[in-house]
Amino acid sequence: MSTTEPRVISHWIDGADSPSSSGRTAPVYNPATGAVQAQVALADQAEIDAAIESAQRGYQVWKTYSIAKRQTVIFAFRELLNARKRELAEIITAEHGKVVSDAMGEILRGQEVVELATGFPHLIKGAFSENASTGVDVYSLKQPLGVVGIISPFNFPAMVPMWFFPVAIAAGNAVVLKPSEKDPSAALWLAQLWKEAGLPDGVFTVLQGDKLAVDGLLNSPAVQSISFVGSTPIAQYIYETASKNGKRVQALGGAKNHMLVLPDADLDLVADQAVNAGYGAAGERCMAISVVLAVEPVADELIAKVSERIANLRIGNGAGVDGVEPDMGPLITDVHRDKVASYVDIAEADGAKIVVDGRGLTIDGHEDGFFFGPTLIDDIPTTSRAYTEEIFGPVLSVVRVQTFQEGLDLINSGDFGNGTAIFTNDGGAARRFQSEVEVGMIGINVPIPVPVAYHSFGGWKASLFGDAKAYGVHGFDFFTREKAITSRWLDPATHGGINLGFPQNN
Ligand code: NAD
Repeated sequence: MSTTEPRVISHWIDGADSPSSSGRTAPVYNPATGAVQAQVALADQAEIDAAIESAQRGYQVWKTYSIAKRQTVIFAFRELLNARKRELAEIITAEHGKVVSDAMGEILRGQEVVELATGFPHLIKGAFSENASTGVDVYSLKQPLGVVGIISPFNFPAMVPMWFFPVAIAAGNAVVLKPSEKDPSAALWLAQLWKEAGLPDGVFTVLQGDKLAVDGLLNSPAVQSISFVGSTPIAQYIYETASKNGKRVQALGGAKNHMLVLPDADLDLVADQAVNAGYGAAGERCMAISVVLAVEPVADELIAKVSERIANLRIGNGAGVDGVEPDMGPLITDVHRDKVASYVDIAEADGAKIVVDGRGLTIDGHEDGFFFGPTLIDDIPTTSRAYTEEIFGPVLSVVRVQTFQEGLDLINSGDFGNGTAIFTNDGGAARRFQSEVEVGMIGINVPIPVPVAYHSFGGWKASLFGDAKAYGVHGFDFFTREKAITSRWLDPATHGGINLGFPQNN
């Protein structure tokens, strides 16, 4: 592995780059070459405090902005993002490894939430009931929470923060974002964009760091809520700690998504979609398909079709070489690549058949990159850890089932409930599936059913701790708290006098 002169990526506090003096850093790799391209600062307690205090000051300013002024800033952010998103995509690819067109895809899905947020006045307006009791009006206000924390994973360094911050900021909050230390630069680019859009300093803060920064947010009384996305064990820890500290919390965890293929499905469509959903972004998507449940007799034909397509996939540097972009880039780190490989070893040891083996792949000119080839596994035992646990790599496993019910029962018996898909031409089967499957997001002939911004994103079971999903109406509910006001403007003629009984309406 080669090492270049380290550049230190640091925080964004008070509307500006804020160099760290913590003395703690972590390496940031270019996954396609294996080179350490920078170090990221890991905040100490003084920097955590500085970030939160700046956000508190920013909130005091931002909450005085009228709805119209807030809307102007969010529209400006949307325009800047739309015009310059290619810059952001290249930053994502350089640190994450995904191909640039896929990075553009994640930005576009995040941009949808920014566009939702431009319409925020409609989503935060309260309600009014005139004359609820004689001479009494009741109305509600939706007010911001204050300083809110967002903690994001490595796999979508732009989109996942954008699931939350456009909504939080539109609703009048100040955000402290703790990005993944594996790809920390996208957050800083977004911070600079907010500055250019006219957001007051302190309303969008980036705190780089590890567990110390996360715990700093969880334990600060000034932080009102936590929005977390990452692996299930950490999501559970975040949920429990933030709840214990009296915070509002939404913590989205891992996944193990199944695609149920009925015998009447169009197998060419299924094979295309299984390849897209299994190997896109090298499988590092929480909505990636990990398991194909093939209702017999389709398994042999489907495996042949998927294998043919894998043979044509081009794997390489996500930034492209000589202007040509591959289909799939590397994994995020060598440690993660080895973990993915260990799951294929486990499947093999448990008796599964490795139909296409991506272990040990090297790419010419990128020998030290963290590459792992698309892998297809047949007949994986459902007791194998490679079946029950999240792999988070380009590994697609096939389980042969005899009936729709057997497939449905397998999905419902798992720990996770993020996404799932059914492929069929039978509307009745699809309808039963959507009704009975215990999963939060369902595709019908759609492999990665990430809801549009005006619906909400979130799974069931170990894929989401807390009550509120991301964005949509859930997002605005999460980032506001309601006040209900009961008012009477007294008419001296109808003054009721003293009455110690519980208030009654008349
Ligand atoms: P991760 O859990 O390792 O890290 C997520 C965040 O938590 C990072 O900011 C990290 O710095 C922080 N963190 C890590 N260890 C911590 C600890 N011990 N204490 C406190 N904070 C800690 O996740 P990751 O590897 O960055 O991302 C991949 C995971 O995220 C996968 O499991 C994937 O399924 C999940 N994910 C889920 C969704 C969803 O919508 N449900 C979306 C994207 C990713």
